[in-house]
Amino acid sequence: TQKVDAASRQPATWGTINCTAVDSNGDIAGVTTTSGLSYKIPGRVGDSPIIGAGLYVDNAVGAAGSTGRGEANTQNCSSFLVVELMRTGKSPTDACLEALKRIADHTEPRLRDKNGRPAFDLKLYAIAKDGRFGGASMWSGGKFAVHDGQSARLESCAYLYEKKRDTR
Ligand code: ASP
Repeated sequence: TQKVDAASRQPATWGTINCTAVDSNGDIAGVTTTSGLSYKIPGRVGDSPIIGAGLYVDNAVGAAGSTGRGEANTQNCSSFLVVELMRTGKSPTDACLEALKRIADHTEPRLRDKNGRPAFDLKLYAIAKDGRFGGASMWSGGKFAVHDGQSARLESCAYLYEKKRDTR
């Protein structure tokens, strides 16, 4: 089914990806592309090109990146935060969840649903230097692609909130 952009009511377009990898030497690389948000204001700068927002790589620790509402990452330095949380010992998945919690706590009232939760989605993905990986989304239903050197597959994102049609 075609998604519709909430503000413009036009078909939504998307295509941003974050891709991170650890090679056999333990060296880490990462990139985040961007399609930008559908119907964005001309001149808007998204989070993808801002190091620490939509992408962050520290070869001593790991890498993180994101897709979704970029302003939330720019405001919270989300990718940097995920890597710093992994530095303190959090797993990639737990680091992504904790960063999403921070984003939810900082969300301004106009962007919350009637239950006070962020009315937008955002996904964070992370990889650690030892090859552990994880992904988490604000709302349930997210997936991310993994190749562990043996096979490629889709994994489910952990999430903060369960998507239920009647509560949004
Ligand atoms: N994060 C991108 C942005 O805000 C959008 C996306 O992920 O599709 O520009």
